This record gives sequence, structure tokens and C-alpha cells, in this order.
Amino acid sequence: MYLNQLIIGFMRIYNLIFPAVCYSCKKRITVQRDCLCEECKKNLQRKPEKLAGEDAIGNRYFDVAYSIYHYNHTVRELIHDFKYKEIKIIGDFFAQKMIDYLNDELSDLLCVDGLVSVPMFSVKQRERSFNQAEYILKKIVKEYHLRDYSKSVYKSNPTVSQALQSFQSRIDNPRNSFKVKNADVLKNKTLLIIDDVFTTGATANELAKTLKQNGVKKIYILTIASGDMEIKEKYAS
Ligand SMILES: [Zn+2]
Repeated sequence: MYLNQLIIGFMRIYNLIFPAVCYSCKKRITVQRDCLCEECKKNLQRKPEKLAGEDAIGNRYFDVAYSIYHYNHTVRELIHDFKYKEIKIIGDFFAQKMIDYLNDELSDLLCVDGLVSVPMFSVKQRERSFNQAEYILKKIVKEYHLRDYSKSVYKSNPTVSQALQSFQSRIDNPRNSFKVKNADVLKNKTLLIIDDVFTTGATANELAKTLKQNGVKKIYILTIASGDMEIKEKYAS
């Protein structure tokens, strides 16, 4: 009893010194382990439909792609803070949303052989030392005791940052940029690719192409958010 009161007292002081804020509107929030206030949570628009995506000549290599949210201003800022400021509480929030989505609506996908995150070019990963897709993937792997196949694939050449490219070059850019390390373990597998944003779908499609050319049977994609053409153009500039 005494210990409980001590912990509650400590948490009150901790919250006073380090007040929890909403990462979108920056207002204070009462729940310490939350990253959005109730108002901003309403700005997250569910987008649970299947997505299309193909390369510049119209080839699609994945089977079905899903996304949790519509890529709007709130989601974009949250993903940015998670990716570049490495605010892990945001990653935890999105990972939990993916887990909820898998539980509630995509339980068929839990029969996959394993998961793959979109790899970063190794020099880039060393520089930034943080792969946001890998962070979320690890949470999902842990939750469902699934296998992580991310080490079987790597990025073989650097691509220009997507934000700096025009829409057309974003479609063309990731060509032949992934390679597999151990094709034997990938044979006839069904895999789920995890990534943060599905914009043109070109990056995930390119990874899917490499995986399928190396024996993977079926590929699903799950991302935090996806945007339509209008939003892509708006944020590409
Ligand atoms: Zn807020």
C-alpha cells in the first residue's frame, strides 16, 4: 500500500517536470504514455481499403496492399517526428494500431510465414542509425511470434530521398535497388512487408519484385498511411 502511494506520488512529480504533450498540436495531455490528444486522434482518418500500385511500365508484384490511415497533415507530421526525431512513443502508437488492425480486420494475414521491413541503404542506416519500418516490424513480430525475414534482403544502392524527387522520378527511382542474401529461406514463402507510407507504391513494389524473383510466393503490404494523388503532389513540392 505504502509503495503504491510512493509510486503515484513519484509519477505526479514526474508528470509535473516532464508533462506529456500531444505531438500534433503540442497541447498538454493527461495520459503520459500517449502521443496524441483526443481532439487530434479525431484527425486520424481510417483508410482500411486495398491499394493499387505498380511500376512505371504497369507491373505489380505484390498481391494486396493495406494501409491504416489516410495520409493527411496530422499523420504526416507524426511520421516525420517518429522518423527523423526518433520519438519512439509515436512508433509504439502506430505499432499498436497496426496490431489492432491485424487483430480486428486482417487476421488472415497472421498466417504469413514472416515479415519484412523495407531496408535502408546500409550507409544511410549507419548515419541515421534508425529504421522506422524495422522498429514497427519488431513490435509486430514480438506480438505474434512471427519470423523476421528483413535480414534476407538489403538495399544495394542509395536512392535519392523521396521528398526531394518529382512524382515521376519517385516512380522510376527505386529500380533494381534491392537484393536478397539467402534466397533459399525465401522459397515459397508468404510475406508481409511493413513500411511507413505508401505513396506511389513504387518502393514496396520494387521490394516485392525482388522477393518474387527470388522465390517468394505471395506478398502483402501493410503501411501506416497512404495518400492519393492530390496529397502526394502537395507534399512532393
Ligand atoms: Zn493534439
